[in-house]
Amino acid sequence: MSTFIDYPTVKQPRRTPEFTAQDKEIRTILCPQMAPIHFALFQAVFENHGYRFEVLPEVDREAVEEGLRYVNNDVCYPAIIVVGQLIRAMKSGKYDPNKTALMISQTCGGCRSTNYATFLKIAAAKAGFHHVPVIPFSVDIANGNTKGINVNFKMLKKMLLAFLYGDLLMTLSNCCRPYETVQGSVNKLVETWLKQLRDEILRNKKHRVADFAGRIVHDFDVIELTGEQTRPRVGIVGEILVKYHPEANNHLISLIEQEGGEVVVPNILDFMLYCLSSDEQRKRYSHVPFLAGLKSSAGVWLIERQRDKVRNALKKSRRFAPMGTIRHLIRLAEPIVSTCNHTGEGWLLTAEMVELIEQNIPNIVCVQPFGCLPNHITGKGVLKELRLRYNNANITTIDYDPGSTEVNQLNRIKLLMAVALQNLSK
Ligand code: SF4
Repeated sequence: MSTFIDYPTVKQPRRTPEFTAQDKEIRTILCPQMAPIHFALFQAVFENHGYRFEVLPEVDREAVEEGLRYVNNDVCYPAIIVVGQLIRAMKSGKYDPNKTALMISQTCGGCRSTNYATFLKIAAAKAGFHHVPVIPFSVDIANGNTKGINVNFKMLKKMLLAFLYGDLLMTLSNCCRPYETVQGSVNKLVETWLKQLRDEILRNKKHRVADFAGRIVHDFDVIELTGEQTRPRVGIVGEILVKYHPEANNHLISLIEQEGGEVVVPNILDFMLYCLSSDEQRKRYSHVPFLAGLKSSAGVWLIERQRDKVRNALKKSRRFAPMGTIRHLIRLAEPIVSTCNHTGEGWLLTAEMVELIEQNIPNIVCVQPFGCLPNHITGKGVLKELRLRYNNANITTIDYDPGSTEVNQLNRIKLLMAVALQNLSK
C-alpha cells in the first residue's frame, strides 16, 4: 500500500521586474565572473557607457553552496556557480537590493544556458530578492531588445575590443609565465596593460588596434625569460565557464604550470565566432532566412578583419604565432563532426582539439561540467576517433561538479603530465 505525503507548498513570486532606463541611473549591475582578464575590460565598456557595473571577483565554496540551495543539483555545474555567486553577493549585505540589478548570460539554443536567466529569477525570488531586476545578457541585447540597456554599434565594437585584447593578453602571458626570469614579472605586465587598456576604454579615446596590439606583443617579446620551449605544451579545451574561470576549474593553469607544463588556452573570440557563424553553417543543411545567413557571414567577416590586425602584430613577433581563423576551425571539425552541432561548445570543441594536435600540442585537458550532455558528445564522444587519427594524442577529460574531489582531478593531470614529459624527452 502506498502512502501519500502532503508536502506544504510555499508559493514564491517567480517574476522579477525588468531593468528600465531609470534603473540605469540608480542600480549597480552585478555580473558573475568568467574570465578575469577579459571581464576587467568588459566592465570598463559598460562603465564608459554610463552604467554602474561590477564583475564579481571570485567564487568560493559558500557561493557553490548557495547555488546548490537554489538550483536543482541535476542542472549543470556552471549554472550552479553563476547563480550561487550572484545570490551570495546579494546576501552578503554589501549591495542594497533597491540599488542593484543582476546580469546573467543567456544563449538561445538547446543547452541549459538558455535557462540561466530563469534559474536566477527563481533563485532571486526564493532568496527574497524578487524586486531585484534580472538582465539576461543574450543576443537580444545586441539587437536592442532589452529594456534599459542600450547597446549601440560603438559599444558593441568596444566589447569586441575587450575580448580581442583579453585573448591577446591571456595567450601571451600563458606562453611566457612558466619561463619568467623574474618571478611575477609576466602577471605584472598583464596588470600594467589591463590598466592602460581600461583607461583607454574609459577615456573613450579612438585608438588604432594595430598600434596597441603591436605594443603589447613587443612588450611580451622583450620580457626576460629563461629556458623557453623546454616544457611540454598542454592545451585546455572544454565548456566555456570551467575552461576560463580559475576557481571553477580549481586553478587548472597554475596546476599544470606547477607540474612542469606550458598552457595553451584557445581564444574566447573563437567561441563568439562559433556562435555567430551558426546560421551560416546551418544554412548548408536546412532552410535559414536569407537575412539571418547574411548577418551571420557579415558578423564573422567583421570580427576576423579586426583579428587580422592582431595577427599581423603576432606575425612580426619572434616568440609568438598568430591565431587561426574560424574558417580554418570549421575545416578541421568537418571530417569528424557535423558543423550543425551548435549546442554547448558543439563542433568548436572538436575543432579546438584537432587544431592543438596539428600545432604539435598533443597534450590536451578537456574540462567538462558534470551534467553537460552536449559537450560530452563533441568532447568525450570524439576521443576515440581522434586517437585513431592521431596516435600521439595524449588527452584526458576531467569532470567538474560541486562534489568532485580535487584529488581525482590532480591524479588525472599528473598522469597526463607524466606522459607529456616522457614524450618530450623522447
Ligand atoms: S554547455 Fe553544458 S555546462 Fe554549459 S550551459 Fe550548456 S549544458 Fe550547461
